[in-house]
Amino acid sequence: MAHPQHGYDTPELRLRRLTECPPPHGTYPERTRSNLAHEVAHFAAEHELSDAWLDESGQCGASTKDNEKEANELGGALLVPAAAAKAHAISGGSSDELAEKYCVSVPMAEWRMRVSGGLIIAQRARAKRSRQ
Ligand SMILES: [Zn+2]
Repeated sequence: MAHPQHGYDTPELRLRRLTECPPPHGTYPERTRSNLAHEVAHFAAEHELSDAWLDESGQCGASTKDNEKEANELGGALLVPAAAAKAHAISGGSSDELAEKYCVSVPMAEWRMRVSGGLIIAQRARAKRSRQ
């Protein structure tokens, strides 16, 4: 879907395509939510927009590698807040449970639990208790 005047997909057109039913490329709701959160993160972070937004395979090439990393991190935080991921991990909750609660994929839930610091805190607490 190309913009009639510019000849390329604008971010707005790509976001619209992401939300059309059925989802593009056989994606599933968790993937679509993740893609949308990533793109929203680009806007929220004031990244420069380009005409190389999501390609046909769903890969985002909006900007620099640093901006992509930042959008991935912020997008993940928009879907699963760090405090929630941390508390869930410390309480011994599973990534499956967190994934279901926040409608994200299990790998996304695992990643959020890991980067929140919750998994390592829980691991250290268990190690401490086993030494006592
Ligand atoms: Zn991106």
